[in-house]
Amino acid sequence: MIESSLIGYSRGELGNETFQATNPATGENLITEYCSASEDEVGRACELAKLASLSMAALSGGDKAKFLGSLADRIDQSIEEIVVIMTAETGLPEARVRAETGRTRSQLLMFANLLEEGSWVDARIDRALPDRQPMPKPDLRAMLRPIGPVAVFCASNFPLAFSVAGGDSASAWAAGCPVIVKAHHAHPGTALLIGKLVVQSVQECGLPEGTFSLIFGSGRTIGQAIVKNPVVKAVGFTGSRSGGRALFDLAASRSEPIPVFAEMSSINPIFLLPDLGKEEMEKIAEGLQISATMGVGQFCTNPGVVFYPDNEIGESFRTSYLDRMKGSDGGVMLHQGILESYNSCTREMSEREGVEELTSGDESLVPSGCGASPCVLGTKIERFLNEPELSNEIFGPATLLVSYSQKEDILNVAKQLEGQLTVSLFGNEKNLAEHDNLLDILETKAGRLLFNQFPTGVEVCSSIVHGGPYPATTDSRSTSVGTGAILRFARPVCYQGFPDEFLPQELQEDNPLGLDREEG
Ligand code: NAP
Repeated sequence: MIESSLIGYSRGELGNETFQATNPATGENLITEYCSASEDEVGRACELAKLASLSMAALSGGDKAKFLGSLADRIDQSIEEIVVIMTAETGLPEARVRAETGRTRSQLLMFANLLEEGSWVDARIDRALPDRQPMPKPDLRAMLRPIGPVAVFCASNFPLAFSVAGGDSASAWAAGCPVIVKAHHAHPGTALLIGKLVVQSVQECGLPEGTFSLIFGSGRTIGQAIVKNPVVKAVGFTGSRSGGRALFDLAASRSEPIPVFAEMSSINPIFLLPDLGKEEMEKIAEGLQISATMGVGQFCTNPGVVFYPDNEIGESFRTSYLDRMKGSDGGVMLHQGILESYNSCTREMSEREGVEELTSGDESLVPSGCGASPCVLGTKIERFLNEPELSNEIFGPATLLVSYSQKEDILNVAKQLEGQLTVSLFGNEKNLAEHDNLLDILETKAGRLLFNQFPTGVEVCSSIVHGGPYPATTDSRSTSVGTGAILRFARPVCYQGFPDEFLPQELQEDNPLGLDREEG
């Protein structure tokens, strides 16, 4: 069987270049072949998106909410089909697939609720003061409007929640933007299944055809062709630092540069502050092992480096953590490329002078196919401070344990850290008071700071920040999770001096939608 892209309501041509997904658990190719789109098809998808832009921008919050709700229902009703294809393409266990389906559905509904309420548009009203001296003040009203067509790159590690109808697409649609999705080569069948549901909801809800297209093809050719197309006004991406950076540079080099919201690499440091007791350390070792191996370590918030005190209590943590990791099950990684990258990164790091491989798990527990086992490496703070390579992300279930002896060591590390999605501190209130300048520094380094909690398990809600300074993302002002994600795909527009009936309802004098507005 051969499948092709979804260009609005039509199917792409069955061209020459095809690819197949591989089952990472068995190493076998799955039978369906997928045709890469041509550059002409990318052009057609972009033209449809351009045509859809104006009518999508005119949709009410209720219309967009209806579409998101319809899609959420369709995804929910297709869960059995999703389980079959997604487990085969990703090696993820059924329970995870079901949980991610639920998350994807609830993200869509979260944005639907946001739209129903409507105040996200940040309406601001400054009424005219015609008698103001020395100059009259005009009537000024501003609100957020859609940025235009958005290119979304599916993430390998969230085949639903950060792929076709995931957080990037949901937030772009919610803002009123058409979306052109570039499928990930590792899970094209999952992408197509969800893509067909999107098309059905677009048609059912009477949205324009260009609301959505799904494009198969290589990132370096077809993905880049989407980003280069002048119709595209923003990009959402989750993946490697090199991929995100390439797209960011490409977007910046266009004759009309556009924003790229790329979520890339983070080592999510954990600081175990001095004065923790032995019992607390034991609990931390237990929680850390769960967090570091969850999903075979393939979460962007996976804790990659832990700083622990070089004393007897710190040593008890190290011993307990190693015991737990030695006995940890391995797991199947998402695709061959990720497995190879994991193996080569752990090998390179373990071969560095002053770095010790403390355990590489139990080989007998490693599954076949793209199976990997946990790895724990150890080094001292002086080496970590002097070798920037030790701060590189290893995507997978690897932890670098770094021992420190001075309070100043932690401060020096904090000052030197690259941008992170998260930084976690473990300690007590006395520790926090003694390290108050540490918090001031860490705040400049990460999108989310945690106290006595592990960074995996990102809550989807309005106050979450899943973002951070480069290289965690390419735009530290943004979050890709939670209601705040919509702001990436909206821009402020000010209407000066317009008669009331020509203003968007959100800005009209009698506030017909009953929004929270900033009025002056
Ligand atoms: P990836 O290689 O960055 O690929 C993600 C998407 O971007 C794919 O669709 C890919 O196209 C495309 N792409 C990659 N390089 C590109 C380029 N130069 N120009 C245009 N498009 C490009 O990520 P991945 O496959 O998910 O995993 C590879 C590595 O990324 C992992 O080993 C890990 O290091 C990192 N990763 C990090 C996170 C995180 O959250 N921190 C999440 C996932 C992955 P193709 O479909 O053609 O490959």
